[in-house]
Amino acid sequence: MTTKKALITGLTGQDGSYLAELLIAKGYQVFGLVRRSSTSNLERITHLYGDIQIVSGDLLDQSSLMDVVSECQPDEIYNLASQSYVPLSWTQPALTAEYTALGVSRLLESIRRCKPDARFYQASSSEVFGQPDESPQTERTAFRPRNPYGVAKAYAHWMTVNYRQKYNLYNCCGITYTHESPRRGTEFVFRKITHAVAQIKLGLTNELKLGNLDARRDWCYAKDAVYAMWLMLQQEQPDDYLIASGETYSVKELVECAFDCVGLNWQDYVSVDPAFYRADEPVQLVGCIEKIKMGIGWQPQYSFNQLVELMVDYDLKKLSS
Ligand code: NAP
Repeated sequence: MTTKKALITGLTGQDGSYLAELLIAKGYQVFGLVRRSSTSNLERITHLYGDIQIVSGDLLDQSSLMDVVSECQPDEIYNLASQSYVPLSWTQPALTAEYTALGVSRLLESIRRCKPDARFYQASSSEVFGQPDESPQTERTAFRPRNPYGVAKAYAHWMTVNYRQKYNLYNCCGITYTHESPRRGTEFVFRKITHAVAQIKLGLTNELKLGNLDARRDWCYAKDAVYAMWLMLQQEQPDDYLIASGETYSVKELVECAFDCVGLNWQDYVSVDPAFYRADEPVQLVGCIEKIKMGIGWQPQYSFNQLVELMVDYDLKKLSS
């Protein structure tokens, strides 16, 4: 049997690093696209050195993408690279569109010209729904993005679908809801909380400032999400799926659960600061996972409580070492 080859963009990110681990374990030859940086940003993948081949390229640069796709000749391509932080998309809207929207056009053109039989996964986001008409959302819910990131992701989504229809490419979009892990940045609320709880437990700080405690999210574990991405590309026919837990929890429930893990009362440490409120708070984003569950047999393996626990444990160990 020949070894399958996969190219991952966004290798240095949360999902890229977990997906690389999964594909290596499955015997793939893994190429990871990394853009040049003056300082190392390979922290999430150092443990994979020797098992992955890093290739240089940038979603802003068409020729680098063409070179990478034609040289690697991947069987599967996972586009996880993007400017992925919603608040930044308001301060850098044009750059967000360049990476997150036009970057996908450049990649699709590279695939069409250099490896049209490659299977392609595009990381869509629940932010495309923005202010949805219905809750839970399904694959048929209308896109009504409410921030530049969501708009860019909607463009990328429809370009991926259009290239499937027009050129008969094997293209899939996974509309992922928020997914977390110990490799998530502390600017995201889930990791911000687990990290702060560990700091408080270790006496490194004594306060945690948060925004809207009633905001609800559909959270799942990044390892579960990347397994869904891989599974989507193993199907006979390409299709688009929601990747979600199908449940929501409030920030307050997350806080309670995280403080419970270390035996402390959250009310002694947490304060609300309106500066952390999101101006474009999405309305009840929660995914209906019937299609992916019934169609390809995926569902999350980790519960919300297990996820909180494993992240608090990780942060405690990391800060104590
Ligand atoms: P992440 O940790 O922010 O990683 C983003 C990756 O994109 C990084 O490797 C980054 O490289 C790379 N990148 C950014 N601009 C690039 C460019 N111009 N050229 C090449 N690479 C570039 O994101 P993530 O959490 O792993 O998410 C993976 C994907 O899923 C993203 O597309 C994100 O928008 C989407 N998504 C994520 C979630 C979630 O909850 N995590 C939910 C919905 C959708 P550097 O290291 O060089 O910055």
